Amino acid sequence: MPEIAIAVDGPGSSGKGTVARGVARALGYQYIDTGAMYRAVALLAKDRSISWTDGPAVAKLAAGLRFQFSWDGDILRMRVDGQDLTTAIRKDDIGRGASDISVHPEVRTALLSLQQGLGREGAVVMDGRDIGTVVLPEARLKIFLDAELEERARRRHDEMIRRGELASYQDVYAALEARDRQDRERKVAPLTQAKDAVYIDTSQLTIREATEVVLALARARGAGA
Ligand code: C5P
Repeated sequence: MPEIAIAVDGPGSSGKGTVARGVARALGYQYIDTGAMYRAVALLAKDRSISWTDGPAVAKLAAGLRFQFSWDGDILRMRVDGQDLTTAIRKDDIGRGASDISVHPEVRTALLSLQQGLGREGAVVMDGRDIGTVVLPEARLKIFLDAELEERARRRHDEMIRRGELASYQDVYAALEARDRQDRERKVAPLTQAKDAVYIDTSQLTIREATEVVLALARARGAGA
């Protein structure tokens, strides 16, 4: 049986990245973090003084980029045109920038063809906001990971403290809420659950538990068979 494609969508800090990565590693699949691609475009636009509101200019930048993902132990490294952007894209303002540039239809179109190319072969776990609805609508397994906003803000805040970034819980909560709203309300490819996606609330689950649930679903649908 050919290996399957798995789409994992959900709001910020729902655990989707960690779960998608764990599932990919367990199955020996490729993992594609599409949020990282939007973040890279936002970061490079900022570096080149291209405004996040200038859709055509940002799209032109995005369309010319070459993305490479590779494992370095447990870290998924992303190189863009040979430059390692793995750490630089994780800053909170770049997350906001990613959300700002992702509202432009032409930017989404530029990244869509790159993402579909990466997912074409199957044996892939791809996470983002529109994977099950737009990027891989034929994915054999679609997951929508969610968690209460308070819990997601707590996770994001803990992560930032671990990285040595100063931020109050209130600020993190407000930024996450604003980004979610923008992602859910944008006109093109908004964050929404695909009709055939399995909804999993991770508020009361550990990452390991959530990963096991998704792995069991993936195996039931033919992964690793
Ligand atoms: O998942 P992450 O927080 O890294 O994503 C950053 C931003 O990129 C999201 O808030 C969203 O606006 C955008 N994004 C998107 N579509 C995807 C993945 C991410 O619009 N498939």
